[in-house]
Amino acid sequence: MIPPSFQFEALPARVRFGSGTIATIGEEAEHLSARRLLLLCTPQQEQQAKDIAATLGNRAVGVFAGAAMHTPIDVTEKALAFAQQVDADGLVSIGGGSAIGLGKAIALKTDLPQIAVPTTYAGSEATPILGQTEAGIKTTQRTLRVLPESIIYDVDLTMTLPVAMSMTSGLNSLAHAAEALYAPNGNPIIDLMAEQGIAALLHALPAIHAAPDDREARALALYGAWLSGSCLGSVGMGLHHKICHVLGGTFDLPHAETHAAMLAHSLAYNLPAATGARVRLQALLGSDDPAQALYTLSLRVGAPRALRDLGMPERGIEQAADLAVASPYPNPRPLDRGAIAAMLRRAWAGDMPVEDLVEADAGV
Ligand code: NAD
Repeated sequence: MIPPSFQFEALPARVRFGSGTIATIGEEAEHLSARRLLLLCTPQQEQQAKDIAATLGNRAVGVFAGAAMHTPIDVTEKALAFAQQVDADGLVSIGGGSAIGLGKAIALKTDLPQIAVPTTYAGSEATPILGQTEAGIKTTQRTLRVLPESIIYDVDLTMTLPVAMSMTSGLNSLAHAAEALYAPNGNPIIDLMAEQGIAALLHALPAIHAAPDDREARALALYGAWLSGSCLGSVGMGLHHKICHVLGGTFDLPHAETHAAMLAHSLAYNLPAATGARVRLQALLGSDDPAQALYTLSLRVGAPRALRDLGMPERGIEQAADLAVASPYPNPRPLDRGAIAAMLRRAWAGDMPVEDLVEADAGV
């Protein structure tokens, strides 16, 4: 059904998708008039980045392998100094959200063009969003300056993503699309992308879990990651992303795992106030209770379900609830601090998600 009115703004996107597409990186660089590329990655993917640099010949002027989770400012400063030292005129970020975040942080300061080569399902490559950390505090900004000019999705580069990380990263991706379905600035185009993204991920994740070498399933997950990342880049997110931001920033919980453990609980909180999203998710998950169905899926694919297993202290529950309601933001269900604390308590313990949170909390 089409809403009576809506607004849609397309983000610029240039995407190559397939198997072996990394071979087109020189063409992409040429398209961006970049002759001196600096490659960025985490220490774990240094060899992969060096292999890709080797295919670029003297178009690659260096590899910086220091990218880290949550884009710490001191790492950006080192990478920036290196970019200036090698006189880079373009950036290639190879990896997950950490490598791509570093490319965005450098682009924010230099306006250098970026080619993103995502190897997880986090979706950062498709967003104009940058989160950076300084002195333990993560701040997020949205500006087109950080949106990568080109994305190369090469399924071959995702085949090595460990199964556990594939599941959590896939659920992180699914969270972008799920929250897009009730975004205040949502629209029918983003709904289409969200539904397709969720459908792709729901099909792909159990298949990858069963057979990590299943290239078709890997391609479907990567496709879902692009669609879901595009949703994240276009419309506002709600309670789920806010809570994960708080948990990651305050308790240093791992990004994708936290999304995976929280998603069913955030949806149980919000879906009673988001009828359209609920109906869509019911159809996609083939269940009257999408939150329960997602919880069951997590169980099936071995994804983390308890925040305590990720290192969250029990005493942090009240603090996280305070932070989640500290500054207002749009969310389908009003932010009820008591209910949010009850939701966090269930997520902390790994209990099944429930909608009627205050009552449930009183019973435990
Ligand atoms: P990550 O980038 O930190 O990657 C996790 C680990 O997996 C790293 O060691 C990485 O090198 C390794 N890895 C990645 N791909 C691999 C592969 N194919 N094979 C083997 N190892 C591989 O994790 P992530 O979850 O992708 O990204 C998390 C970060 O991204 C967080 O800082 C988060 O805030 C940010 N993020 C930002 C946005 C945005 O729009 N700005 C969106 C999503 C995530």
